Amino acid sequence: MLAVVPPPVTVKVPSKINVHLSVGEARKDGYHELTTIFQALSLSDEVTVAAAEEPGLEVHGEGAKVVPTGENNLAWRAVHALAEHVGRPAADLAKVRIVLRKGIPVAGGMAGGSADAAATLVGLAALWKLDLGRDELAHVAATLGSDVPFALYGGTALGTGRGEELVPVLSRHVFHWVLAFDQRGLSTPRVYGELDRLRSAGDPPRVGSHAPVVEALASGDPHRLAPLLGNDLQAAAVSLRPNLRRTLRAGVDAGALAGVVSGSGPTCAFLCEDADTALRVSARLAGAGVCRTVRVAHGPVPGARVVDGDDSP
Ligand code: ATP
Repeated sequence: MLAVVPPPVTVKVPSKINVHLSVGEARKDGYHELTTIFQALSLSDEVTVAAAEEPGLEVHGEGAKVVPTGENNLAWRAVHALAEHVGRPAADLAKVRIVLRKGIPVAGGMAGGSADAAATLVGLAALWKLDLGRDELAHVAATLGSDVPFALYGGTALGTGRGEELVPVLSRHVFHWVLAFDQRGLSTPRVYGELDRLRSAGDPPRVGSHAPVVEALASGDPHRLAPLLGNDLQAAAVSLRPNLRRTLRAGVDAGALAGVVSGSGPTCAFLCEDADTALRVSARLAGAGVCRTVRVAHGPVPGARVVDGDDSP
């Protein structure tokens, strides 16, 4: 009898920005205690997971050349983690093919690798017809990295711990963002190291409480949210990439309400009044010559979801 080959599954997965990111002191395990508010944005990656005789991983799109295609790609690590979680034999791993179509900048502070890991978990669960809920997948996701669970749920959420303990946050209406990609990525550990250095040398300003940010998100008013955008990693990212200061200024000069470095950077996110303003700001910012590429996005959007293929268990 011929084995039935399941059809490939394609999953769309959002990027994230940190609307608020408060970094505590370094813990004994080397991680920092975080309080952050994530918002999932429409700028996304697409991940196709297929059964194939020849295993492998292909990467296309934004920054594809610098993404590893071997075992250290986060998508592969997700395949291994899910197989181990459900007790799948090693022979099945040798029959998975993954295609990443990247829209999220690599090492841009928008959690692109984490997004691909989350998408791979959802895609593989559908391909293997596993009856796993989001919460169980989130459990596996947390073993892969602190931003992976958020990419599964999407929306807007308060993250604590290393960022992986999530509580949904009410975000009314749609917020419009312009994103400025820098020439090259920034390594997240380097940015944390720079923050530790800056803190040992002085006392760089820290963001305030997240409570007013939660209220501003619930109001849906970008004018209330704009002055509250804040990121403790921004000073460190700017210290390593002084050109970001110019980018941040240029976005506001172009008409954005406010700008903030996304996560560990170097991508800068600019909050705009509405969709039309975002388009105008993106055109002006692209013309200002301060960054490599400009994109328009909106949020919140849902987390990783199947867009092609069968997702019933
Ligand atoms: P975060 O904000 O979660 O720290 P980031 O958005 O700054 O992450 P990523 O795009 O996730 O950065 O990539 C960080 C590094 O991870 C890259 O330099 C790359 O070498 C490696 N990597 C592994 N898997 C992937 C993947 N699927 N996509 C992109 N980078 C990956």
